[in-house]
Amino acid sequence: HDEEVGQQFSASSLSVRLAMPQQLQPKPDIDDELGFGKLFTDHMLKIYYHKSLGGWQKPEITPLENLVMHPAAKVLHYAVELFEGMKAYRGVDGKIRIFRPDMNMHRMNLAAKRSGLPTFEGEEFIKCLCRLLSIDSEWVPHTEAASLYIRPTLIGIDPTLGVAASDSALLYTILSPVGSYFKSDSTGAVSLLADPSYTRAWPGGAGNRKMGSNYAPTINVQKEASRKGLQQVLWLYGDDHQLTEVGTMNIFMLFVNEKGEKELRTPPLNGLILPGITRDSILALARQWGQFKVTEDIFTMPDIKHLLNEGRLLELFGTGTACVVSPINRISYLGEDLYIPTMEQEKPIHETIRETLMDIQYGKVEHPWAVTI
Ligand code: PMP
Repeated sequence: HDEEVGQQFSASSLSVRLAMPQQLQPKPDIDDELGFGKLFTDHMLKIYYHKSLGGWQKPEITPLENLVMHPAAKVLHYAVELFEGMKAYRGVDGKIRIFRPDMNMHRMNLAAKRSGLPTFEGEEFIKCLCRLLSIDSEWVPHTEAASLYIRPTLIGIDPTLGVAASDSALLYTILSPVGSYFKSDSTGAVSLLADPSYTRAWPGGAGNRKMGSNYAPTINVQKEASRKGLQQVLWLYGDDHQLTEVGTMNIFMLFVNEKGEKELRTPPLNGLILPGITRDSILALARQWGQFKVTEDIFTMPDIKHLLNEGRLLELFGTGTACVVSPINRISYLGEDLYIPTMEQEKPIHETIRETLMDIQYGKVEHPWAVTI
Protein backbone atom coordinates (compact mmCIF):
# COMPACT_ATOMS: atom_id res chain seq x y z
CA HIS A 1 0.00 0.00 0.00
CA ASP A 2 1.69 3.16 -1.27
CA GLU A 3 0.67 6.19 0.86
CA GLU A 4 0.69 8.51 -2.12
CA VAL A 5 -1.16 6.19 -4.52
CA GLY A 6 -3.83 5.01 -2.08
CA GLN A 7 -5.73 1.77 -2.61
CA GLN A 8 -4.46 -0.75 -5.12
CA PHE A 9 -6.70 -2.77 -7.42
CA SER A 10 -7.14 -6.50 -7.16
CA ALA A 11 -7.83 -9.03 -9.92
CA SER A 12 -10.32 -10.75 -7.62
CA SER A 13 -12.73 -7.82 -8.09
CA LEU A 14 -12.47 -7.87 -11.90
CA SER A 15 -15.85 -7.54 -13.64
CA VAL A 16 -16.60 -8.67 -17.19
CA ARG A 17 -19.11 -7.20 -19.64
CA LEU A 18 -19.00 -9.27 -22.82
CA ALA A 19 -19.61 -7.89 -26.30
CA MET A 20 -23.02 -8.69 -27.85
CA PRO A 21 -22.86 -11.27 -30.66
CA GLN A 22 -23.59 -8.52 -33.22
CA GLN A 23 -20.57 -6.51 -31.91
CA LEU A 24 -18.08 -9.34 -32.54
CA GLN A 25 -15.55 -8.59 -35.27
CA PRO A 26 -14.64 -11.15 -37.93
CA LYS A 27 -11.23 -12.65 -37.15
CA PRO A 28 -8.58 -12.35 -39.86
CA ASP A 29 -7.66 -15.33 -42.05
CA ILE A 30 -4.40 -17.08 -41.40
CA ASP A 31 -2.86 -15.72 -44.61
CA ASP A 32 -4.23 -12.18 -44.42
CA GLU A 33 -1.57 -9.48 -44.34
CA LEU A 34 -2.02 -8.36 -40.75
CA GLY A 35 0.44 -5.48 -40.75
CA PHE A 36 0.94 -3.92 -37.34
CA GLY A 37 -1.76 -2.62 -35.01
CA LYS A 38 -4.54 -2.21 -37.57
CA LEU A 39 -7.04 -4.75 -36.23
CA PHE A 40 -8.23 -5.05 -32.66
CA THR A 41 -9.94 -7.79 -30.69
CA ASP A 42 -13.46 -7.63 -29.26
CA HIS A 43 -12.63 -6.68 -25.67
CA MET A 44 -10.44 -4.39 -23.61
CA LEU A 45 -9.35 -4.04 -19.99
CA LYS A 46 -9.92 -0.78 -18.08
CA ILE A 47 -8.88 0.30 -14.61
CA TYR A 48 -9.61 3.85 -13.48
CA TYR A 49 -7.70 5.74 -10.81
CA HIS A 50 -9.35 8.57 -8.92
CA LYS A 51 -7.47 10.15 -6.05
CA SER A 52 -10.76 11.62 -4.75
CA LEU A 53 -12.20 8.07 -4.50
CA GLY A 54 -9.20 6.68 -2.61
CA GLY A 55 -7.03 5.41 -5.46
CA TRP A 56 -7.39 2.55 -7.96
CA GLN A 57 -10.94 1.41 -8.79
CA LYS A 58 -12.20 -2.07 -9.71
CA PRO A 59 -10.80 -3.51 -12.94
CA GLU A 60 -13.29 -4.17 -15.72
CA ILE A 61 -13.26 -5.97 -19.04
CA THR A 62 -15.64 -4.38 -21.55
CA PRO A 63 -16.26 -4.57 -25.28
CA LEU A 64 -13.64 -2.57 -27.21
CA GLU A 65 -15.08 0.93 -27.25
CA ASN A 66 -14.11 4.55 -27.72
CA LEU A 67 -12.89 6.48 -24.69
CA VAL A 68 -14.72 9.60 -23.59
CA MET A 69 -12.68 12.30 -21.91
CA HIS A 70 -12.77 15.99 -21.17
CA PRO A 71 -10.96 18.14 -23.77
CA ALA A 72 -8.73 19.46 -20.95
CA ALA A 73 -7.56 15.91 -20.05
CA LYS A 74 -3.85 16.16 -19.31
CA VAL A 75 -2.92 13.41 -21.74
CA LEU A 76 -4.18 15.58 -24.61
CA HIS A 77 -2.01 18.57 -23.65
CA TYR A 78 1.16 17.41 -21.96
CA ALA A 79 1.34 13.84 -23.28
CA VAL A 80 0.90 12.42 -19.78
CA GLU A 81 1.01 8.93 -21.26
CA LEU A 82 3.05 5.78 -21.20
CA PHE A 83 2.65 2.33 -22.67
CA GLU A 84 4.03 -1.14 -23.01
CA GLY A 85 4.41 -3.60 -25.86
CA MET A 86 4.07 -7.32 -25.17
CA LYS A 87 2.87 -10.33 -27.15
CA ALA A 88 0.83 -13.47 -26.64
CA TYR A 89 2.04 -16.46 -28.65
CA ARG A 90 0.11 -19.62 -29.50
CA GLY A 91 2.52 -22.44 -28.81
CA VAL A 92 3.04 -25.62 -30.76
CA ASP A 93 1.01 -27.33 -27.97
CA GLY A 94 -1.92 -24.91 -28.49
CA LYS A 95 -1.27 -23.16 -25.16
CA ILE A 96 -1.00 -19.37 -25.08
CA ARG A 97 2.09 -17.84 -23.53
CA ILE A 98 3.34 -14.37 -22.67
CA PHE A 99 7.02 -13.52 -22.28
CA ARG A 100 8.55 -12.15 -19.06
CA PRO A 101 5.50 -10.00 -18.21
CA ASP A 102 7.00 -9.00 -14.84
CA MET A 103 9.66 -7.04 -16.76
CA ASN A 104 7.00 -5.05 -18.66
CA MET A 105 5.21 -4.28 -15.41
CA HIS A 106 8.42 -3.08 -13.79
CA ARG A 107 9.24 -0.85 -16.76
CA MET A 108 5.68 0.49 -16.83
CA ASN A 109 5.81 1.45 -13.17
CA LEU A 110 9.13 3.25 -13.69
CA ALA A 111 7.47 5.27 -16.47
CA ALA A 112 4.44 5.96 -14.27
CA LYS A 113 6.73 7.37 -11.58
CA ARG A 114 8.56 9.53 -14.13
CA SER A 115 5.21 10.90 -15.37
CA GLY A 116 3.74 11.62 -11.95
CA LEU A 117 1.10 8.92 -12.61
CA PRO A 118 0.03 6.36 -10.01
CA THR A 119 1.96 3.10 -9.81
CA PHE A 120 0.19 -0.26 -9.48
CA GLU A 121 0.79 -3.89 -8.60
CA GLY A 122 2.08 -5.59 -11.72
CA GLU A 123 1.05 -9.08 -10.61
CA GLU A 124 -2.59 -8.06 -10.23
CA PHE A 125 -2.49 -6.38 -13.63
CA ILE A 126 -1.08 -9.54 -15.23
CA LYS A 127 -3.91 -11.60 -13.73
CA CYS A 128 -6.48 -9.21 -15.26
CA LEU A 129 -4.59 -9.30 -18.57
CA CYS A 130 -4.61 -13.12 -18.60
CA ARG A 131 -8.40 -13.03 -18.16
CA LEU A 132 -8.70 -10.62 -21.11
CA LEU A 133 -6.47 -12.91 -23.18
CA SER A 134 -8.55 -15.96 -22.32
CA ILE A 135 -11.76 -14.15 -23.34
CA ASP A 136 -10.24 -13.10 -26.69
CA SER A 137 -8.06 -16.22 -26.99
CA GLU A 138 -9.32 -17.11 -30.46
CA TRP A 139 -7.65 -13.91 -31.66
CA VAL A 140 -4.20 -15.30 -30.89
CA PRO A 141 -3.12 -16.41 -34.39
CA HIS A 142 -2.74 -20.14 -35.01
CA THR A 143 0.64 -19.69 -36.69
CA GLU A 144 4.21 -19.00 -35.78
CA ALA A 145 4.31 -16.20 -38.34
CA ALA A 146 2.03 -14.04 -36.19
CA SER A 147 1.09 -13.27 -32.61
CA LEU A 148 -1.28 -11.11 -30.58
CA TYR A 149 0.26 -7.77 -29.68
CA ILE A 150 -0.70 -6.46 -26.22
CA ARG A 151 -0.73 -2.72 -25.61
CA PRO A 152 -1.08 -1.74 -21.94
CA THR A 153 -1.49 2.05 -21.73
CA LEU A 154 -1.66 4.51 -18.83
CA ILE A 155 -2.98 8.05 -19.39
CA GLY A 156 -3.58 11.06 -17.17
CA ILE A 157 -7.21 12.13 -17.60
CA ASP A 158 -7.57 14.86 -15.01
CA PRO A 159 -9.72 17.55 -16.70
CA THR A 160 -7.48 20.46 -15.65
CA LEU A 161 -4.87 22.40 -17.60
CA GLY A 162 -2.15 22.83 -14.96
CA VAL A 163 1.14 21.06 -15.63
CA ALA A 164 0.86 18.95 -12.50
CA ALA A 165 0.32 15.38 -11.38
CA SER A 166 -2.94 13.94 -12.71
CA ASP A 167 -5.41 13.06 -9.94
CA SER A 168 -7.29 10.78 -12.33
CA ALA A 169 -5.84 8.18 -14.65
CA LEU A 170 -6.89 5.30 -16.85
CA LEU A 171 -4.90 2.13 -17.22
CA TYR A 172 -6.23 0.20 -20.19
CA THR A 173 -5.17 -2.57 -22.53
CA ILE A 174 -6.07 -3.34 -26.12
CA LEU A 175 -5.04 -6.37 -28.18
CA SER A 176 -4.11 -6.53 -31.85
CA PRO A 177 -3.23 -9.54 -34.01
CA VAL A 178 0.02 -8.73 -35.81
CA GLY A 179 2.29 -10.09 -38.48
CA SER A 180 5.80 -8.72 -38.82
CA TYR A 181 6.45 -5.12 -37.89
CA PHE A 182 9.15 -3.92 -40.24
CA LYS A 183 9.39 -3.79 -43.95
CA SER A 184 12.72 -5.28 -44.93
CA ASP A 185 14.30 -6.10 -48.28
CA SER A 186 14.16 -9.61 -49.81
CA THR A 187 17.07 -10.77 -47.63
CA GLY A 188 15.20 -9.74 -44.45
CA ALA A 189 17.73 -7.02 -43.63
CA VAL A 190 17.05 -3.31 -43.06
CA SER A 191 18.92 -0.17 -44.14
CA LEU A 192 19.35 2.80 -41.79
CA LEU A 193 19.60 6.58 -41.88
CA ALA A 194 22.18 7.81 -39.36
CA ASP A 195 21.92 11.59 -39.18
CA PRO A 196 23.72 13.11 -36.18
CA SER A 197 21.59 16.25 -36.35
CA TYR A 198 18.75 14.36 -34.63
CA THR A 199 18.78 13.11 -31.02
CA ARG A 200 16.27 10.67 -29.54
CA ALA A 201 17.37 10.79 -25.90
CA TRP A 202 19.78 12.75 -23.72
CA PRO A 203 21.24 12.54 -20.21
CA GLY A 204 18.66 13.49 -17.60
CA GLY A 205 15.83 13.11 -20.12
CA ALA A 206 13.23 10.35 -20.24
CA GLY A 207 14.39 8.38 -23.30
CA ASN A 208 14.83 5.36 -21.05
CA ARG A 209 11.11 5.29 -20.27
CA LYS A 210 8.36 4.10 -22.60
CA MET A 211 6.46 7.39 -22.71
CA GLY A 212 4.48 8.52 -25.75
CA SER A 213 6.31 11.85 -25.67
CA ASN A 214 9.51 10.10 -26.81
CA TYR A 215 7.93 8.78 -29.98
CA ALA A 216 6.10 11.71 -31.63
CA PRO A 217 9.34 13.59 -32.45
CA THR A 218 10.77 10.52 -34.22
CA ILE A 219 8.04 10.29 -36.84
CA ASN A 220 9.31 13.07 -39.05
CA VAL A 221 12.83 11.63 -39.03
CA GLN A 222 11.46 8.20 -39.93
CA LYS A 223 9.61 9.86 -42.84
CA GLU A 224 12.87 11.41 -44.00
CA ALA A 225 14.55 7.99 -43.90
CA SER A 226 11.70 6.53 -45.98
CA ARG A 227 11.99 9.39 -48.51
CA LYS A 228 15.65 8.43 -48.92
CA GLY A 229 14.71 4.79 -49.49
CA LEU A 230 15.99 3.73 -46.05
CA GLN A 231 13.91 1.62 -43.70
CA GLN A 232 14.79 2.76 -40.19
CA VAL A 233 16.52 5.51 -38.25
CA LEU A 234 19.77 4.84 -36.42
CA TRP A 235 19.74 7.14 -33.40
CA LEU A 236 23.13 8.67 -32.65
CA TYR A 237 24.16 10.63 -29.60
CA GLY A 238 26.96 13.05 -28.77
CA ASP A 239 29.93 14.56 -30.61
CA ASP A 240 31.44 11.10 -31.02
CA HIS A 241 28.25 9.82 -32.73
CA GLN A 242 27.48 6.96 -30.35
CA LEU A 243 25.02 4.37 -31.65
CA THR A 244 22.11 4.22 -29.21
CA GLU A 245 19.03 2.57 -30.74
CA VAL A 246 17.59 1.74 -34.13
CA GLY A 247 13.97 2.73 -34.80
CA THR A 248 12.15 1.35 -31.76
CA MET A 249 14.75 -1.33 -31.10
CA ASN A 250 17.91 -1.77 -29.09
CA ILE A 251 21.08 -2.34 -31.07
CA PHE A 252 23.70 -5.10 -30.90
CA MET A 253 27.04 -5.48 -32.68
CA LEU A 254 29.06 -8.68 -33.10
CA PHE A 255 32.70 -8.01 -33.89
CA VAL A 256 36.24 -9.29 -33.49
CA ASN A 257 37.92 -7.23 -30.76
CA GLU A 258 41.54 -6.04 -30.47
CA LYS A 259 42.49 -9.35 -28.84
CA GLY A 260 41.04 -11.32 -31.75
CA GLU A 261 38.06 -12.56 -29.69
CA LYS A 262 34.46 -12.49 -30.86
CA GLU A 263 32.50 -9.99 -28.83
CA LEU A 264 28.79 -9.14 -28.68
CA ARG A 265 28.23 -5.57 -27.56
CA THR A 266 25.21 -3.38 -26.85
CA PRO A 267 25.14 0.13 -25.37
CA PRO A 268 24.84 0.30 -21.54
CA LEU A 269 21.68 1.44 -19.74
CA ASN A 270 23.09 4.93 -19.22
CA GLY A 271 19.77 6.78 -19.44
CA LEU A 272 19.78 7.07 -23.25
CA ILE A 273 18.57 3.52 -23.86
CA LEU A 274 15.15 1.95 -23.42
CA PRO A 275 15.76 -1.10 -21.21
CA GLY A 276 14.47 -3.63 -23.71
CA ILE A 277 13.23 -6.98 -22.48
CA THR A 278 14.57 -8.62 -25.63
CA ARG A 279 17.91 -6.89 -24.96
CA ASP A 280 18.01 -8.20 -21.40
CA SER A 281 17.07 -11.71 -22.55
CA ILE A 282 19.75 -11.76 -25.26
CA LEU A 283 22.42 -10.63 -22.79
CA ALA A 284 21.37 -13.38 -20.36
CA LEU A 285 21.33 -16.09 -23.05
CA ALA A 286 24.65 -15.04 -24.60
CA ARG A 287 26.36 -14.95 -21.20
CA GLN A 288 24.98 -18.42 -20.49
CA TRP A 289 26.24 -19.75 -23.85
CA GLY A 290 29.73 -18.44 -23.06
CA GLN A 291 30.78 -18.74 -26.72
CA PHE A 292 31.87 -15.13 -27.07
CA LYS A 293 32.56 -12.12 -24.91
CA VAL A 294 29.45 -10.12 -23.98
CA THR A 295 29.73 -6.44 -23.08
CA GLU A 296 27.51 -3.45 -22.37
CA ASP A 297 29.59 -0.57 -23.63
CA ILE A 298 29.44 2.48 -25.87
CA PHE A 299 30.34 2.20 -29.57
CA THR A 300 30.48 4.99 -32.10
CA MET A 301 30.18 5.51 -35.86
CA PRO A 302 33.98 5.98 -36.12
CA ASP A 303 34.30 2.56 -34.37
CA ILE A 304 31.95 1.03 -36.94
CA LYS A 305 33.96 2.51 -39.84
CA HIS A 306 37.25 1.36 -38.30
CA LEU A 307 35.94 -2.19 -37.74
CA LEU A 308 34.56 -2.31 -41.29
CA ASN A 309 37.92 -1.18 -42.70
CA GLU A 310 39.70 -3.93 -40.81
CA GLY A 311 37.07 -6.55 -41.70
CA ARG A 312 36.26 -7.08 -38.03
CA LEU A 313 32.58 -6.08 -38.00
CA LEU A 314 30.51 -9.26 -38.31
CA GLU A 315 26.89 -8.45 -37.50
CA LEU A 316 24.74 -5.50 -36.57
CA PHE A 317 21.10 -5.98 -35.56
CA GLY A 318 18.17 -4.38 -33.79
CA THR A 319 16.18 -6.23 -31.13
CA GLY A 320 12.67 -5.81 -29.75
CA THR A 321 9.34 -7.48 -29.03
CA ALA A 322 7.89 -6.53 -32.42
CA CYS A 323 10.50 -8.29 -34.57
CA VAL A 324 12.70 -10.24 -32.08
CA VAL A 325 15.80 -9.57 -34.21
CA SER A 326 16.17 -7.32 -37.24
CA PRO A 327 19.49 -7.64 -39.14
CA ILE A 328 21.05 -4.44 -40.56
CA ASN A 329 22.88 -4.44 -43.90
CA ARG A 330 23.48 -0.77 -44.70
CA ILE A 331 23.91 2.59 -42.96
CA SER A 332 23.70 5.91 -44.73
CA TYR A 333 25.98 8.21 -42.70
CA LEU A 334 27.18 11.70 -43.63
CA GLY A 335 26.84 11.07 -47.35
CA GLU A 336 28.51 7.63 -47.23
CA ASP A 337 26.92 4.22 -47.69
CA LEU A 338 28.37 1.73 -45.22
CA TYR A 339 27.68 -1.91 -46.11
CA ILE A 340 27.43 -4.19 -43.09
CA PRO A 341 28.10 -7.91 -43.71
CA THR A 342 25.39 -9.10 -41.25
CA MET A 343 23.78 -11.37 -43.85
CA GLU A 344 27.06 -12.77 -45.14
CA GLN A 345 28.09 -14.70 -42.02
CA GLU A 346 28.07 -18.46 -42.19
CA LYS A 347 26.31 -19.16 -38.89
CA PRO A 348 24.98 -15.76 -37.90
CA ILE A 349 24.48 -15.17 -34.19
CA HIS A 350 21.36 -13.09 -34.79
CA GLU A 351 19.67 -16.15 -36.33
CA THR A 352 20.56 -18.35 -33.36
CA ILE A 353 19.22 -15.69 -31.02
CA ARG A 354 15.97 -15.38 -32.96
CA GLU A 355 15.45 -19.16 -33.01
CA THR A 356 16.23 -19.54 -29.31
CA LEU A 357 13.84 -16.79 -28.25
CA MET A 358 11.06 -17.98 -30.58
CA ASP A 359 11.45 -21.57 -29.33
CA ILE A 360 10.80 -20.26 -25.81
CA GLN A 361 7.93 -17.98 -26.87
CA TYR A 362 6.17 -20.65 -28.94
CA GLY A 363 6.64 -23.32 -26.28
CA LYS A 364 9.04 -25.58 -28.19
CA VAL A 365 11.24 -25.63 -25.11
CA GLU A 366 10.15 -25.19 -21.51
CA HIS A 367 11.55 -22.01 -20.00
CA PRO A 368 10.63 -19.92 -16.94
CA TRP A 369 10.47 -16.78 -19.13
CA ALA A 370 7.39 -18.13 -20.94
CA VAL A 371 4.28 -17.78 -18.79
CA THR A 372 1.24 -19.84 -19.79
CA ILE A 373 -1.99 -17.88 -19.40
N1 PMP B 1 13.88 0.74 -27.81
C1 PMP B 1 12.75 1.44 -27.96
C2 PMP B 1 12.83 2.92 -28.15
C3 PMP B 1 11.51 0.79 -27.94
O1 PMP B 1 10.36 1.48 -28.09
C4 PMP B 1 11.48 -0.62 -27.78
C5 PMP B 1 10.16 -1.35 -27.79
N2 PMP B 1 9.64 -1.46 -26.48
C6 PMP B 1 12.69 -1.31 -27.61
C7 PMP B 1 13.87 -0.59 -27.64
C8 PMP B 1 12.72 -2.79 -27.42
O2 PMP B 1 12.20 -3.18 -26.18
P1 PMP B 1 11.58 -4.61 -25.95
O3 PMP B 1 12.66 -5.60 -26.24
O4 PMP B 1 11.17 -4.63 -24.52
O5 PMP B 1 10.43 -4.74 -26.88
